[in-house]
Amino acid sequence: MRAFQLVEWQRPPELREVPVPEPGPGQILVKVAGAGACHSDLHIMQAPPPADGTMLPFTLGHENAGWVKTPGPGVAGFAPGEAVIVYGPWGCGLCVNCREGRENYCQVTGGLGGGLAGHDGGMAEYLLVPASRFLIPLGALDPREAAPLSDAGLTSYHAVKRSLHLLGPGSTAVVIGAGGLGQMAVQILRALTAATTVVAVDTDAGKLETAKRMGADEALLSGDQAVTRIKDMTRGQGAELVLDMVGVEPTLRMAAQVARVLGHLTVVGLGGGALAVDFSSPPHECSVASPYWGSVPELVEVVTLAQQRKIKMLVEHFPLERAAEAYQLLHDGKIRGRAVVTPLV
Ligand code: NAD
Ligand code: ZN
Ligand code: ZN
Repeated sequence: MRAFQLVEWQRPPELREVPVPEPGPGQILVKVAGAGACHSDLHIMQAPPPADGTMLPFTLGHENAGWVKTPGPGVAGFAPGEAVIVYGPWGCGLCVNCREGRENYCQVTGGLGGGLAGHDGGMAEYLLVPASRFLIPLGALDPREAAPLSDAGLTSYHAVKRSLHLLGPGSTAVVIGAGGLGQMAVQILRALTAATTVVAVDTDAGKLETAKRMGADEALLSGDQAVTRIKDMTRGQGAELVLDMVGVEPTLRMAAQVARVLGHLTVVGLGGGALAVDFSSPPHECSVASPYWGSVPELVEVVTLAQQRKIKMLVEHFPLERAAEAYQLLHDGKIRGRAVVTPLV
């Protein structure tokens, strides 16, 4: 089969011919319908060789959905042809965090999975999934459209859900960076909060238009005026929740400026910026967190939201031979929502 692989660090990935994997006991072979191109892959491609000895090559694509092809020996509950989404952080299943469903914080694997750190991912015709608990049935959802739910959806959902107790009537949530993750966050905030004002911030006017269409009450171009506007809207107090989906110095600075006392400043973007902390910035008792992905039960909830048509990713499809182009467009800011690579169609 063909697979889009990272072959050398800091070199463009390549489309290569590799064997179709054979599912062993407990494993499942999935025919890939869609593999989302996440901005994290760009960070991975640009990174120097990691110190942990991650082996190359490996197939990219950590945001996957498809159809069950072959359940391995001993696998029950999944039939060939069934549409499934793949939970990405592949934990050990046995540590306390995994037993709580938080395989993203597995104490053994660190929550890495297919398409990350040496494990083959979904930018190939088939994906070998190590255990059936990583598959969630999609029901009537089309896996080509649903793939981004497993990362852009799940990561944003987890980041919102952990702060829901702050988002009562009259509250404000700010989403900085309205790309793949940010657009999901706006819709999730809309779906989970009835009377929260949702503000999207981006450097790209097109992204802001999309965010508005997806339910943002305000869409602001990044900069000092956005800070002033958010302060005005919140009577000088700032927002209960600020999600930074970019994570560079200017967005972190802005996040600290628009968060409120006792609020949450949540850094999701891996832009590599550092947040300055002193006595009064971020505001007093504003908690800062850097969540990674989400839990298995949360992915079930994200799929339910999509089945209820409360959230929908704006998807552009690319055949496998155009995967490199999809990443180039993402790098250039020219993907309107999410690029999804479709190996078989
Ligand atoms: P994306 O490229 O689709 O979206 C990024 C958006 O940020 C774009 O709309 C861009 O215009 C906007 N932007 C860039 N600079 C900005 C600035 N200075 N101010 C405001 N907006 C700005 O990327 P994505 O796939 O949505 O990923 C977003 C980030 O989240 C990436 O850094 C990615 O690595 C990270 N990520 C983290 C996790 C996690 O578990 N923490 C999971 C997935 C992705
Ligand atoms: Zn990702
Ligand atoms: Zn574990």
